[in-house]
Amino acid sequence: MNIANCPRCGRIFAPGLKDVCSACAKEVEQQYERCVQYLRDNRGATITEVSENTEVPIKQITKFIREGRISLVNAPNMSYPCDVCGILIREGNMCETCRKRLTQDVNTLKEQEQRRREEIRKSMTYRSRD
Ligand SMILES: [Zn+2]
Ligand SMILES: [Zn+2]
Repeated sequence: MNIANCPRCGRIFAPGLKDVCSACAKEVEQQYERCVQYLRDNRGATITEVSENTEVPIKQITKFIREGRISLVNAPNMSYPCDVCGILIREGNMCETCRKRLTQDVNTLKEQEQRRREEIRKSMTYRSRD
């Protein structure tokens, strides 16, 4: 049987469908209920307000949103932090700036890789001439 430490409370548990122990899973469910309830009554709330009033950490609320359990459709002021820089966003995992930077980095890496291959190819050609 698989045994792991619960990432939330550190207790030993057997990972199954949930990634946290059953006590934590129950607690997360209660937190979820509190968030949903609060958002139902306060549609214009921001993630900070929800967190302060429900005592659910922003990180956990972000997780609910990412999992699609909390929808932003009916919560016009709700947003969650960008994975990289922490700026508040409403779509994807990253803000526009970080996404652009990442694409650029990937392109640079690709270019470097291509140049490296080119060099290897050249050196191979030289060698085959010998
Ligand atoms: Zn736990
Ligand atoms: Zn960002």
